[in-house]
Amino acid sequence: MSRRVLLVEDEAPIRDMLSFVLEQSGFETIEAEDYDIAQQKLVEPYPDLILLDWMLPGGSGVQLAKSLKQHEFTRDIPVIMLTARGEEDDKIRGLDAGADDYITKPFSPKELVARIKAVMRRVTPTSNEQPIEFNGLKLEPISHRVMANDEALDMGPTEYKLLHFFMTHPERVYSREQLLDNVWGTNVYVEDRTVDVHIRRLRKAIGGQGHDAMIQTVRGAGYRFSTKL
Ligand code: CA
Repeated sequence: MSRRVLLVEDEAPIRDMLSFVLEQSGFETIEAEDYDIAQQKLVEPYPDLILLDWMLPGGSGVQLAKSLKQHEFTRDIPVIMLTARGEEDDKIRGLDAGADDYITKPFSPKELVARIKAVMRRVTPTSNEQPIEFNGLKLEPISHRVMANDEALDMGPTEYKLLHFFMTHPERVYSREQLLDNVWGTNVYVEDRTVDVHIRRLRKAIGGQGHDAMIQTVRGAGYRFSTKL
């Protein structure tokens, strides 16, 4: 049941150390060495927490924290800023930008893990790991399994991510562009048509028992996952 931490840090030795410490403590880590890569890694399924270095190539950690708070899907991901600076002003700037906590280098691994756990406890428990079910279609994030009335379904990783996004954001219309941003990532260049291809595959994968009817085309707008036919 490992929680996923996105580790944004440009210095490889620190990143390696952090990743080691976190994995030892039972977290799964996703690594990013600069601003752009961090944004690329911010896709479905989103991390449970972000450990964010202050000084990054391509943009500052403060900038990234601010942009996270502006977007619907990343707004609630807790952020712990990581920095060599100990100035009170910087601390305030980090917290103003939306960071949930702040830790100054050098820190002990034990302290860091304790802070991460505290922040995770504080934020509303994300339903990231809870099975989600609609009309007999069940998605289990922990095992990455999808079942239709207890029958296991087979699908590719993109279809799985797409379905996970839909099932966690039901009854809302998303444009192809919004789906691309959330499932493929903002910095990835993919044509809008790609979405249609994966929607088609997803419908086929869940269509055996008619669940494909929940993936609805909304003309001129995009797609919607809905239990209302
Ligand atoms: Ca740095």
